[in-house]
Amino acid sequence: MFEKILIANRGEIALRIHRACREMGIHTVAIHSTADANAMHVRLADESVCIGPPPPNQSYLNIPAIISAATITGADAIHPGVGFLSENAGFAEIVEAHGFTFVGPSPDHIRMMGDKITAKRAMIEAGVPCVPGSDGAIESLEAAKKFAASIGYPVLIKATGGGGGRGMKVARDESQLAQALQLAKSEAKSAFGNDEVYMEKFLDKPRHIEVQVLADNHGNVVHLGERDCSLQRRHQKVLEEAPSPALNAEEREKLGKIVVKAIEKLGYRSVGTLEFLYENGEFYFIEMNTRLQVEHPITEMITDIDLVREQIRVASGAALGFSQADIKFFGHAIECRVNAEDPLTFQPSPGKVTDYHAPGGLGVRVDSALYTGYAIPPYYDSLVSKLVVHGRNRAECMMRLRRALEEYVIGGIKTTIPLHRKLLTEKSFIDGDYDIHWLERWMDGGK
Ligand code: ADP
Repeated sequence: MFEKILIANRGEIALRIHRACREMGIHTVAIHSTADANAMHVRLADESVCIGPPPPNQSYLNIPAIISAATITGADAIHPGVGFLSENAGFAEIVEAHGFTFVGPSPDHIRMMGDKITAKRAMIEAGVPCVPGSDGAIESLEAAKKFAASIGYPVLIKATGGGGGRGMKVARDESQLAQALQLAKSEAKSAFGNDEVYMEKFLDKPRHIEVQVLADNHGNVVHLGERDCSLQRRHQKVLEEAPSPALNAEEREKLGKIVVKAIEKLGYRSVGTLEFLYENGEFYFIEMNTRLQVEHPITEMITDIDLVREQIRVASGAALGFSQADIKFFGHAIECRVNAEDPLTFQPSPGKVTDYHAPGGLGVRVDSALYTGYAIPPYYDSLVSKLVVHGRNRAECMMRLRRALEEYVIGGIKTTIPLHRKLLTEKSFIDGDYDIHWLERWMDGGK
């Protein structure tokens, strides 16, 4: 097992990884920008290295600085966390070339899944159903028109290198196609430096259902059930639950089997998530994330498996210590993403946390790097806490979550806690009756 891991990230996820390392007896190295000198992940790590000024491209995305930090501190492995360099195949290669272990999949798998066209091709070959769409990039308006006519409107133009819901535009009919194509391309160019786009049938009322997988270097693959992440705003997840209120045991098993078979065929190792849209009883693959997901804790709560620990174990070459038959699902879990944002306008609200009281009690878990007196810097993601609640069933989970949201105090800044409180009183949510567009409709006042 590794003796020392450098955590190439910040915020709650850096803390989450630190916790797993600590329990495994692995020393941790935190890296941080000058803006994060007082951050909790830095305070708790065994060692820390300042790697640059606040802008991410000079610090958390600064590969030479990160490699230097790992070299100076004598780390064995680098954990990339979520976001930043976690899906950068070049980074994984550089890490390995310098003799460190990258806690994640092989660079080839990261590259294959990072390009959504090659990802879909690989999945189709592995027997996974995909959203009907173009087989490759859409090069021209003529090609777009022809293809849209063949699959039928509405269609969605998506960036090949997309992420975070950017570079995605809907065209409801041919008159909207030229603009959608141009907007998707320019958004993709500025966000990812790559303006290649492809086309998919735009599904009207799907749910977003994703399957967690875990695989080792020895050909063992398991799935840990699904998460329902349909509550989204601007294609970004707001609240997630596991299991999905929309699936029955039969569908769950069917989907799990398809996914495990595909992962075996690909020879993938580490944790990973296959994302699907689910409509009218059918699953359609949209993308695979080759890293830990923000919402991984809800899976941990219903399986009692520490995903970060397993990710580190398999990265060290260890075999999975359990098989599919050993994985039992227990109860229900929900995660609320708490962002430092205005709950109505979603304007970022960084600043000093003047008061902090996290909820507790049975079944309540808070993954957060906040503390009283901490100043949230304005340079990074606004996710500041994940409130994760478990109950024996969905009703108990929601009851507990309502209570936990009432207890949660984060003073001095605005957060999305009021949005979650309101959501928990809404009938459609209580009934589990929602699709990926529901939250935006609800926030607009329509239902
Ligand atoms: P990103 O990598 O930017 O997160 P994804 O492909 O994972 O992009 O899609 C993000 C979200 O966008 C999905 O969860 C879903 O809400 C929506 N979406 C993606 N593809 C489609 C589609 N074909 N039809 C309808 N909605 C879609």
